[in-house]
Amino acid sequence: MMTASATSSIDVQIIGGGPVGLACAAWCLQKFPELSLQLIDRNPLNDSELIASDTRGIALSHGSKLLLDTINAWPSDSCAIHSVHVSQVGQFGRALMTREELGQAALGHIVRYRDIHLALRQALRALQPKAPHFSWLHTSPSDLSTPSNARCMVHAEGGLFTQQDWVESGRDYRQSALVGLVEVDNALAHHAWERFTSEGPLALLPSHYGKNTLNMVWCSSPENAERLNGISDADFLRELQAMFGSRLGQFKSIRDRRLYPLGLNYRKEIVQSNEVWIGNAAQALHPVAGQGLNLGLRDAYLLAEQLSDLFSKHPHSSKSRNAIEQALHHYALSRQADRKTTIGITDFLARVFTSPLAPVVAARGAALSLLQWLPPLKTRLARQMMFGRR
Ligand SMILES: Cc1cc2nc3c(=O)[nH]c(=O)nc-3n(C[C@H](O)[C@H](O)[C@H](O)COP(=O)(O)OP(=O)(O)OC[C@H]3O[C@@H](n4cnc5c(N)ncnc54)[C@H](O)[C@@H]3O)c2cc1C
Repeated sequence: MMTASATSSIDVQIIGGGPVGLACAAWCLQKFPELSLQLIDRNPLNDSELIASDTRGIALSHGSKLLLDTINAWPSDSCAIHSVHVSQVGQFGRALMTREELGQAALGHIVRYRDIHLALRQALRALQPKAPHFSWLHTSPSDLSTPSNARCMVHAEGGLFTQQDWVESGRDYRQSALVGLVEVDNALAHHAWERFTSEGPLALLPSHYGKNTLNMVWCSSPENAERLNGISDADFLRELQAMFGSRLGQFKSIRDRRLYPLGLNYRKEIVQSNEVWIGNAAQALHPVAGQGLNLGLRDAYLLAEQLSDLFSKHPHSSKSRNAIEQALHHYALSRQADRKTTIGITDFLARVFTSPLAPVVAARGAALSLLQWLPPLKTRLARQMMFGRR
């Protein structure tokens, strides 16, 4: 439980202890340990209660890895992606992207949500002893008394599409994602597959469990995803095999199936007076391009930079409402291009690659071929996905 008086001298309050809120807190304290900062976290204090939580595989870009490395928050269990193969079921057109073409050690990395979450909690704990004015409050979901008298409030409450208590701009793609871990006969190490089906993308991503265990993200209509979640393992594997084909040999097992609703919900204005929204609290995206958390981490990093600068360099004037509003205004401007591009590309891919219309199907086959034969275009797109737009 919290009391309002607990926050009376607080400069920054972050609401939400998911990956983005934790990362923002850690970067703030790393840059300015003296900051008076409060984190409101609905997750349990004890890490062991999170061990069985969200195990879905998340693709993090090399840019996100570099950012997380700065606070020692890179999870020990991860798998690098060296190549990505994109194709569509039953149609022409394919593109292959490799790390060599881009001159990078990896195109990205697959980590489990809960491992990022736990690594960030550890990173924040490591910074705690040197941060005398930091408080980390654990509340229960039923506790609605979140105090709001901090000088600056950062919303990092996250959430999934349809489960957020706000709806602004966006699109309902009428899709859900079914995720799980599949075992196959014969996969290529460090290789990711993205195959577009008539109902949505089906991704098979490498994992740290070994080359034949892959993270599956299968997007289809909510009804079909629900059905696929409910059928027996044997029936499921048969359907997956039929949809993906035989490139990986036999699909042998499936475990930990989970369903997620998908869609686009984003705020046009991410700053209002002394309040700012970051991560999924600012934008929930379709996972087709694996960009949601990557974008959220860039939000967190740049906001931490802005706030730590304000409170460390101008200790007296920073307390004024005006100075805070100005800093947040600068932050919002600095995020405009990256947000717009990332939301735009993701929305475009989610729509184009799920349309069953014949002209669109033909056009996307041509687009994949074009991407394959025009390396500069491919490199530009890949760089945007890896580092965002600055
Ligand atoms: C199927 C699927 C696959 C995905 N794959 C990728 C991928 O490959 N790459 C990628 O970059 N992104 C991916 N994403 C997106 C990614 O999961 C999100 O962008 C990311 O989780 C956002 O982090 P967040 O901290 O903003 O929000 P969340 O992860 O939702 O965390 C928010 C936290 O705040 C807490 N909270 C909520 N309300 C309050 C409150 N009032 N007070 C205190 N705490 C509160 C919640 O309990 C939660 O712990 C995927 C998403 C889905 C659904």
